[in-house]
Amino acid sequence: MVHQYEDFSQRGSTPFRVDFYRSQRSTFRIDFLMSQCVGLTLASSVPIIPGMFFRSKKPKEPPEKAPAGEQWIKCPKCGELVFPNHWAKNLWVCPQCGYHERIRAHQYLQILLDEGAFVEEIAADLLPDDPLGFPGYPEKLQKTQAKTGLTEAALAGTGHIGGHPVVLFITDFAFFGGSMGSVMGEKFVRAARYAIEKQVPFIALTASGGGARMHEGIISLMQMAKTTVLVNEMAEAGILYINILADPTMGGVMASFASLGDIIIAEPGALLGFAGPRVIRDTIKQELPPGFQTAEFLLEHGMIDLVVPRKDLKKTLVRLFDLIGVSHHG
Ligand SMILES: [Zn+2]
Repeated sequence: MVHQYEDFSQRGSTPFRVDFYRSQRSTFRIDFLMSQCVGLTLASSVPIIPGMFFRSKKPKEPPEKAPAGEQWIKCPKCGELVFPNHWAKNLWVCPQCGYHERIRAHQYLQILLDEGAFVEEIAADLLPDDPLGFPGYPEKLQKTQAKTGLTEAALAGTGHIGGHPVVLFITDFAFFGGSMGSVMGEKFVRAARYAIEKQVPFIALTASGGGARMHEGIISLMQMAKTTVLVNEMAEAGILYINILADPTMGGVMASFASLGDIIIAEPGALLGFAGPRVIRDTIKQELPPGFQTAEFLLEHGMIDLVVPRKDLKKTLVRLFDLIGVSHHG
C-alpha cells in the first residue's frame, strides 16, 4: 500500500454552505453549515495496521469434512461442496449456482484494479469520533478496527481500470455493516472533489447493509444530503459517476449516493433497498413479491441499469469507459 498525501487531503473538514440545491437528479433544501455538523478527528499520523490489505477471507460457515478428509466450503445457497482454492479462484462465487459471497473491500480492489494496485491517498487519515457520546461506541470502534484492519467503513483512493485512471470509493460490510457515519460522508466528498480536480471517473462500490450509522445519529443522516450534493457537483463538472452495488446496499447509503450514479451496476442476488423486507412486510401486513429487493427485481423495475457477475465487473467497466470515451490519461 502506498500513501501519498497532497494538500488536498490535509484541509480538514469540508466547509460549505448549501441553502438551496436543485438539479436534474434531486432537490434538497439544506440550511446549515455542514462543517459545523460533522464530527471529525484528523489524526496527526497515518494509521498503518499490519495486514490491512492482506487479510484472507474466512468462509462464513465452518467448512465440512469431505470423505477424503479435505476441507471444503459449502455453498450456503445450493449446498455444493467446493474446494477453498477453487472458491477463491472463482472470486468467492459458487460455480454451481452463482451465489456471490460477501467479500471484503481489499478483495474487490484486487478484482477491479489493474494489478490490484490501490493508492489510498484520499482522506486516509480521517478517524471516526464519538460526537454524540453514544454509550459503548468508542470501545466498539476500537474492537472493530482491530478486527477488520480498517480505521473506518470506507476507503477512498486511486487506481487504474483497464489503463483508465479512476477514483475509487469503496465500503466494507465488515466494519459496522459498512454503515455511513461522518467520516464516510467526508471521504466521499473529498474523493468526489478529487475526481473533479483530476477529471477522472468516480466509482463507488458499496457493501453497506447498515445504512446510516445509528451511533452518530442525525450526523449520519446529514451525510445523505452532503454526499448527494457532491454527486450533483460531479454531474455539473461532467464527471462519470458509476455505482457498483454489492450485497447488501441498504438504508441511508442506498437512499443517497449509492443510487444516484450515471450508471448503476449490481452484483447478482444483492439485497438492495431502504428498509429490509421483514420490516416492510411487518409494516404493510402483506406478503412481498418473490425476489423483492434483489438486484434482479430492481433491474426488472428500472431502478438499476445492469446486473453483472463479479467476474465480469472489470471488463464491463472498461467497456463502458471505451463506449463513453473516457480518457486513458485523466
Ligand atoms: Zn451454490
